[in-house]
Order: sequence, then structure tokens, then C-alpha cells
Amino acid sequence: MCCCCNDGPRGYEASPTRRGFLKVAGGAALGLAPFSSSFAAPTKAPPKPENVLSPNAALDRLMKGNQHYIEGVSKRHDFKHEREALTKGQNPYAGVLSCADSRIAPEYAFDAGRGDLFVCRVAGNLINDDVIASFEYAVSALNTPLILVLGHQACGAVDAAIKSIKSGTSLPGHLPSLVTALTPAVKAALDQPGDNLDNAIRQNVVLTVAALKTATPILNEAVERKKIRVVGAVYDLAHGRVEMVS
Ligand SMILES: [Zn+2]
Repeated sequence: MCCCCNDGPRGYEASPTRRGFLKVAGGAALGLAPFSSSFAAPTKAPPKPENVLSPNAALDRLMKGNQHYIEGVSKRHDFKHEREALTKGQNPYAGVLSCADSRIAPEYAFDAGRGDLFVCRVAGNLINDDVIASFEYAVSALNTPLILVLGHQACGAVDAAIKSIKSGTSLPGHLPSLVTALTPAVKAALDQPGDNLDNAIRQNVVLTVAALKTATPILNEAVERKKIRVVGAVYDLAHGRVEMVS
């Protein structure tokens, strides 16, 4: 069940099956340490101490990394060294939900290395049970302090949803599931002045941020305790700039 199937943002509760997976199978399925409570304390030193940041500091680091990417001065990554440091675990400083579009690459866009970003990618950067569960894991088990929803200019998934809704035609295969998830954003943007596609892309980010913030029982609690921030942005294809929208 998708949070975006009804108009407007609302709370989201992951299915009991998903919660069970996180609590019981937990790290065993992912090759990471299991955790028994929603906010288990880390049991060992994090592999990347520089990634232990407040939510605001994590956002500041993302935006500084984006500026490096825009200016073409991204740092060189020593992947050989990073592989060794990350064999015992991970502590990414930000979660990113981005579109599957091949032109959007979060690690490049934020000048980040391995172990820095916990990335979920799906066409239209929408959320479902699996995305919610993934970020619950990042927040609870990995202590990730920030989640960024990253839409992008000229998103084909949002454009297809707009055309399907306006024409009343159904797309082939499993594509209608994307249209269903994106319908609240598309409808909310229909009456807004300006470019319809740009507005729907921004609206989709705004609604997805709101849904993540109110996703019970883990993410909403983390937001209320100020353990994490959930923010939204749109990526500009031509310049690589990430503009905050919520
Ligand atoms: Zn897209």
C-alpha cells in the first residue's frame, strides 16, 4: 500500500511484515548488526567518525558537496582505502530518496564516498513500504540523521503520470502503479500557475517529505525527538544544482 494513493500527506505505518523483518531478520538479511529496539545505541565505534553529525550539519555537508560537484572540484575517492574501512559496518550521514533516472547520481551530486549516503532509488522518487522500511533501518540501526527527498527537473515518471491522468489513458505493464502513486502530486499541481511539470515535480517532493515525516511508528518519532530531519530538494539537470524546496 502506498502513502501517496490518497490526496494530501498523511501518516504512514509500515506493514507488520516489514516491521517484523526489520526487528527480527534485521542485519542478518543485510549483513549488518541486528537491532532489538527502534533506537538501539551503537555498540562499537562507527567506521566513519566524520559521519557522526547533527541533522543540520549533515544537510550543510550535503550542500557543500553539491557546490563542489557544480564547480567541478569533486574530491578524488580512494576506493581501495574506503573498502577496507567499511568491511565492519556503515554509518551514512544522510539518506537520499531519488529517482531512478540515470542522470541523477546522488554520490556524484553531493561529492560523497562509499558509506556516506544511504540511497533508495525508484522512478518518480516515491515511497512505498520498502522505501519506508529502508529508511527506518537507516535511522534506527545506522543512526542516519538526515533524509533528503530528491526530485529532478524533467522527470519522465512525473511527466508520464501527468499525460496519463490528463488523457484518461492507462499505461502498459506495471507503469500504472507509478501513476497511482504520483496522482496526488499531479492533481495538486494542476491549478498552480507556471509550468505544470515543474510544479508536479516540486509537489511530489513536498508530499513525499510530509509522508516520511509522519510515517509511524519509527520515522515520525525520530522527527518529533529531533533525532532526524526530513527535507526535500529538486536537482537541476543543466547545472547540477540541488535547490531546497521543503
Ligand atoms: Zn525522474
